[in-house]
Amino acid sequence: MDNVTNITHPADKYLVPTHIKLGYRTLVIEPRLMDDFGEYINNENKILYNSKQTPPELVNTIIHELLHAIFEDRIVSLVSDKNEETIVNALANGFMTALVDNPELLNFLNNNIKQIHERKR
Ligand SMILES: [Zn+2]
Repeated sequence: MDNVTNITHPADKYLVPTHIKLGYRTLVIEPRLMDDFGEYINNENKILYNSKQTPPELVNTIIHELLHAIFEDRIVSLVSDKNEETIVNALANGFMTALVDNPELLNFLNNNIKQIHERKR
């Protein structure tokens, strides 16, 4: 897969992934100059993010938009999509808070998920 976007954005240095595999599909992650923090476009399998964000905002945005994708795949049939923004916001901000307040949690996730990748080889 193409790993490089041809436009230089301030966010490039933060190593935002250009693709996120989510089950059967691959989401394309693209920087944009936009007013919102980000946007998830379900029928295009695409996440757009505002390239002029601080690193913490960027992390929150990628988590937030990824949760929109998961919501569309797995939750929208269970609850009304009119609650989607509230639910996604609560989950993204809650997860972000847990990561920020517990640096060892990120190490735990990284170290142990690595084993799954190693087993797949
Ligand atoms: Zn949202």
